[in-house]
Amino acid sequence: MTEPVIALTKTLIAEKSISPDDKNCQQIIIERLKPLGFVIEEVNIGNTKNLWAYHGELAGKTLMFAGHTDVVPAGDESKWNSPPFEPTIDKNGILYGRGAADMKSGVAAMVCAAESFVKKYPDHAGRVAFLITSDEEADASDGTVKVVDLLIKRQEHIDYCIVGEPSSDSVFGDQIKNGRRGSLTANLVVHGIQGHVAYPHLADNPVHRFAPALNELVATVWDNGNQYFPQTTMQVANINGGTGAENVVPGELSVQFNFRYSSELTDEMIKSKVDAILQRHNLNYTLNWRLSGQPFLTPQGELTDATASAIKAFTKIDTKLSTSGGTSDGRFIAKLGCQVIEFGVINKTIHKVNENVNCQDIITLQAIYIDILEKLLLA
Ligand SMILES: [Zn+2]
Repeated sequence: MTEPVIALTKTLIAEKSISPDDKNCQQIIIERLKPLGFVIEEVNIGNTKNLWAYHGELAGKTLMFAGHTDVVPAGDESKWNSPPFEPTIDKNGILYGRGAADMKSGVAAMVCAAESFVKKYPDHAGRVAFLITSDEEADASDGTVKVVDLLIKRQEHIDYCIVGEPSSDSVFGDQIKNGRRGSLTANLVVHGIQGHVAYPHLADNPVHRFAPALNELVATVWDNGNQYFPQTTMQVANINGGTGAENVVPGELSVQFNFRYSSELTDEMIKSKVDAILQRHNLNYTLNWRLSGQPFLTPQGELTDATASAIKAFTKIDTKLSTSGGTSDGRFIAKLGCQVIEFGVINKTIHKVNENVNCQDIITLQAIYIDILEKLLLA
């Protein structure tokens, strides 16, 4: 393979950038963007490297590509058919290596797409921008979230963002992620009074007290979802009570439950509804919440339409919008108030042994990104 986008993907895979270590990835990207006239800003925080870069003028729309250069560890390298940090292409054109799908191919495709676009239209309207981090896979605490805060403080205006994460499911192009559900965890302790099971009138059993409240929590319909999100779900993850002895009424019951919620609800709405249920059952309790991510949604619009029609043009596929899956950096980027989607290669092998990507898909991804740039910035 001699295509520049394949060569760049391979170069990036060869950098053993285990989160949050960027190794040389962002330097390699900077060396590509700088000669094109991109304004480059490195935002390094602790062990994390971040890159904010743009080309063009503020007048007009800004389309930002976002992604990460870090990867998860390879695991047991002896289980790989080829060394995980030595990019290897088999006779079918499948490229193997850690980060092949998540997401060094995506980063290479966006860099090469911007390169072609800027060379072809050096005086294009608007801006092509990049937000690249080395802290997505681990803590995600010094990466995109911090750069987004910085951009908000500066009142940077971003119209569109394409996160190059592997969004495709079974065939390349079948899925665009246009949002994610929120995730909220409750850590509940129900307090009672420990005692002898033979003298229940002297004890107060928190398991018995909680049982009807649990029943109500489980039976509650939190919402009915909407056009883009499935119904909000609540699942008990852990429940613990008892001393281990058969003749002791426990003094405390710990329950942990998690909500995956739609854009119909906010974390505050869920919290107050849970409190109301617990209070209605006269429980003496302590409740601590942990919010992992608010839901975000980009309704169908210019960005999803441009992406869907580019996908159709290059793959013949009628793509679909989806909000499935876990959290991603899209949750931070959404705070910029821009339209944000994730679109990239097939995610079937991400984080696995023998992670791989089809080289043809990377080439097509680059072509789709160029087409989206032309549709949104030249219009
Ligand atoms: Zn990723």
